[in-house]
Amino acid sequence: MNIEFNLDELKVTDRLPSPSGTALAIMQLVQRSDATVQQVSQLVKVDPALSGRILRFANSAAFGARRPIADVQTAVMMMGMQTVRNFALSLSLIGNSGSGHCRRFNYEAYWSRSLAVSVSIAAITARETTVVPAESFTLGLLSDIGSLALATAWPDIYDECLGAAEGERLLALESERFAIDHKVLSHILLADWGFPAIFLDALKLSFEKKIEGFNRTADFARQLIFARLIGNYCVADEQLRAVMWTELTAKAALHAMDESALLRFIDETVELWHDWGKLIDVKTDVRDSLVKNAAPEPALPGLSLLLVDDDPMMLARFSKQLAAAGNQVATCRNGESAMKYIIEHKPQLVITDWRMKPMDGLALCKALRASAFGKNIYLIMLTSTEDEDALVEAFDAGIDDYVTKPVSLRVLLARLRAGQRIVTLQNELEKESQDIKRYTAELAAANRRLKSMANTDILTGLPNRRYAMARLEQESATAQRSNQPLSVLMLDLDHFKSVNDSLGHDVGDQVLVHAASLMRENVRTSDIVCRLGGEEFLIIAPNTDGTTAVLLAERIRNAIERNQPERIELRCPVTVSIGVAGSKGAKPSWKELMKRSDNALYLAKQGGRNGSRLDSSS
Ligand code: GH3
Ligand code: MG
Ligand code: MG
Repeated sequence: MNIEFNLDELKVTDRLPSPSGTALAIMQLVQRSDATVQQVSQLVKVDPALSGRILRFANSAAFGARRPIADVQTAVMMMGMQTVRNFALSLSLIGNSGSGHCRRFNYEAYWSRSLAVSVSIAAITARETTVVPAESFTLGLLSDIGSLALATAWPDIYDECLGAAEGERLLALESERFAIDHKVLSHILLADWGFPAIFLDALKLSFEKKIEGFNRTADFARQLIFARLIGNYCVADEQLRAVMWTELTAKAALHAMDESALLRFIDETVELWHDWGKLIDVKTDVRDSLVKNAAPEPALPGLSLLLVDDDPMMLARFSKQLAAAGNQVATCRNGESAMKYIIEHKPQLVITDWRMKPMDGLALCKALRASAFGKNIYLIMLTSTEDEDALVEAFDAGIDDYVTKPVSLRVLLARLRAGQRIVTLQNELEKESQDIKRYTAELAAANRRLKSMANTDILTGLPNRRYAMARLEQESATAQRSNQPLSVLMLDLDHFKSVNDSLGHDVGDQVLVHAASLMRENVRTSDIVCRLGGEEFLIIAPNTDGTTAVLLAERIRNAIERNQPERIELRCPVTVSIGVAGSKGAKPSWKELMKRSDNALYLAKQGGRNGSRLDSSS
């Protein structure tokens, strides 16, 4: 049977790989000319898994990220709405088409290779600029989508094609059977999804035998061919790799890579490929080999199922036949022992007879549905009647399906397959919700890290100015509410510039770290030591009046004077000048407190340094 290819018909009948959920919504939004970054970000944020992946994508060094991007909106802005859209589309397709019904089509290998192509094209376009690497990455992932589309739309016929031919002959056979081949179909689908013209033109050109000329499109087409070759190399086994090496080195020469540069490039690509595989759930341990194995039997894994019937003949016969069909079968003679078995072994599916003693099938079903562990188990009831009332009663009790006795094995197996689809869907849902939980947790942890990074001074590990100001405001409010005293100490190392000038900036840094740790060691646990910047520090001392704060200041000043840094030959010892100001209740405000401590510090400097001064009005 030959097919007349018709894109619209396939789309209408929903037989092409297609995005769903958030990805679909993003695609529809970005299609509108008035879509904003903010709207796209809002959609992305609805999906924690997607948010996490987009943040990782935007933060990837491979795409030139220089500083950490912590929020989705900035990520979307940096990547561009089109790239976000294409990335979401690819992720959705990977999620929806990780497996399928075309036997000889290796879905895992397909995505694995696509990801390798995508990582290499991004790396190549980063070396020789034609298009933005992040954009070329998303094209790489979908550049062979036509193959997947054929396998999805016509699994059986495409299976025959794959069995009958390879390489160029496969293309001819595809054209014969579908009036289209996978290369042309890739182009059509990407055009339909609105990929930019430079991509589409280059993709088309990359299928040609020879590429003439040197312009952006031709260059990008050559890069695609090279990336495809590297993608194939990544998934090839040792033997196949040896065969591919000559062609690969010849192509590499066109990209100014000698053998050792090529080897290095492949190593880096493979490493990124594995990283990305983990991130977006694509297997990267798939191997293609020269010896094509016969297609494996359909990969529907067997079910763990429990057969409950009081008739030993029935049990013996069906358990054998169901096991022969690839399932793991356990048997029980009545509802009670079935219940016990289910609690212990959690089978995926239960087939139970109705009439049994002491606990019959209906009671078993009700008991299961009332329990946490049995709520979702797929249950098929064997009935000797198709009496409507009885069936309604059974469905009300919570059965999923029924088979009438005498049981035909064919019918039972068909019903089992239907059940299996539900069980698989349930597992996927379960896995998805666990994934989402995991991503949400990862995202929360990443956000916590970023937040603490934003509040921490990298050199000394102390809270920074931003934190200091926020905390002081907060402590001041608390002091005001409870009418408690609050003091601040402004510290500035003396003649610090001369340390830098005579011994260098690195030694200067060591002195700063040294002084910071002495401050931390000599305050009370309730005091907060912060680095305001340079050689200036601030200590917030809650519940402390000015006079007590001066004692604290003296303790720190002393500690710094007495504990000079070891292993550093300083011209003059490290000392610190400290200005102290205190408040009581609402007066003065925290800003005024800062000003007063700064004035006091100035006086301490003027008074000869290495001393502390209390602000006169404190
Ligand atoms: P004074 O006793 O009057 O405070 O003199 P000073 O030299 O300590 O003060 P000044 O403000 O003139 O110089 C501060 C110097 O601190 C200037 C700058 O080179 C140095 N500095 C600022 N931040 C850092 C840093 O992060 N690391 C290092 N090593 N030096 C820094
Ligand atoms: Mg200073
Ligand atoms: Mg100083």
